Amino acid sequence: MKGALDACPVSFGVVQQWLQRRIGAMRDTELYRYLLGLETPWTVSRVELKVEGQRVDVWTDHAEGLQWKCPECGTSLGLYDHSEERSWRHLDSCQFMTFLHAKPPRVECPTHGVKQVKLPWAEPRSRFTALFERLAIDVLKETDVLGATRILRISWDEAWHIMEVAVERGLAGKSERVVRQMGVDEKAIAKGQQYMTIACDLELGTVEYVGEGRKQETLEKYFEGLSTKQLERIEAIAMDMWDPYVAAVRERIPEGMKKIVYDRYHVMGHVNKAVDTVRKQESRDFRDEGDERLTGSKYLWLYGKENLPDKHRERFETLKAMNLKTGRAWAIKESLRELWTYQTEGWARRFWKKWNFWATHSRLRPIIKAARTIGVHLANILTYFTHRITNAVSEGINSKIQTIKKMAYGFRNRDNFKTAIFFHCGGLDLYPRTHGIPG
Ligand SMILES: [Zn+2]
Repeated sequence: MKGALDACPVSFGVVQQWLQRRIGAMRDTELYRYLLGLETPWTVSRVELKVEGQRVDVWTDHAEGLQWKCPECGTSLGLYDHSEERSWRHLDSCQFMTFLHAKPPRVECPTHGVKQVKLPWAEPRSRFTALFERLAIDVLKETDVLGATRILRISWDEAWHIMEVAVERGLAGKSERVVRQMGVDEKAIAKGQQYMTIACDLELGTVEYVGEGRKQETLEKYFEGLSTKQLERIEAIAMDMWDPYVAAVRERIPEGMKKIVYDRYHVMGHVNKAVDTVRKQESRDFRDEGDERLTGSKYLWLYGKENLPDKHRERFETLKAMNLKTGRAWAIKESLRELWTYQTEGWARRFWKKWNFWATHSRLRPIIKAARTIGVHLANILTYFTHRITNAVSEGINSKIQTIKKMAYGFRNRDNFKTAIFFHCGGLDLYPRTHGIPG
């Protein structure tokens, strides 16, 4: 090969230098065009590496004499002018933060006036390329906001902004779907009786709505956003015995009262609370006489009997054998769980009557009160045998929300909290479109 070049009129060294220059010049711009996934008419015009600043800046430019589309109506138009140069954070090049720079072209549409065209690498107004946003979304899904800011080298506000935009995009792109089985639940968000109302799709396990407060209006606001078809096709709604929610369903959902199922976990929650009240009183009475046998036993009585950890079993059996008020309350509570094991509503109702007699004759005031509450709401407890739903899914979502709350300590406001719930539990398509960019 060398021999052949030697025979040329131009010396080998000159050709080699020229080639190297050519390859060198090509290497950066072509490489970045490829890495950025830029397609015609966009090309890379300049690449600057700042080793000290740990960053790469890439300028992109387009050919002349092209037609551009109005972002509103798609009409092809000639170039009007360019906006000021802007930059977008892109995926890092190895450890170097990488920024893409361009002057966005503008068109003058006869209908819409002067408009900036859509750029293939970023959503309008974003400070990041679509590929960077995708990565950021993936990272934010896996870790807390603070952790994500460190991994991605972005600010706290930027991280939240990416999440907000992603949620907005996901909600906007959501198609109208019928939630056949719905769970409605309240969520305490702060001390001092601050609540949020959360509605979810029990089949998909997704949060569909987050509203502030737990009033009738709070839930009605969700129903107002649904179409007639969506409202009609709701088959069942699991919830707590909470009158404002009941009122909202009665007002807004056709045949709503047939569809409410008081959730068994909530019902049992009320009875558990009654057991705990009995224990507290009894324990206090004992302590007044210097008897500590019930002290520290709170959780023993709240477990379902098969879930009691082995290490507590001995103490629990001893306590149970003492014929305490708390023991009786516990037995009544445990017995009620049988209600949901029946095959038909008729048998469940028969069981209820027996249980109710036992509970209301127990001379345990909190238990009597709980039994009365259940009695008043019985019709919609027994709807369970028609719909067979429980709010277990939304309890799962609740614990996820609890984690979100812990992870993102530092919600600066409730909107952030809401954003995080939808981001993690909304089942939304959060990603930006990447246009021509492979990704
Ligand atoms: Zn237009």
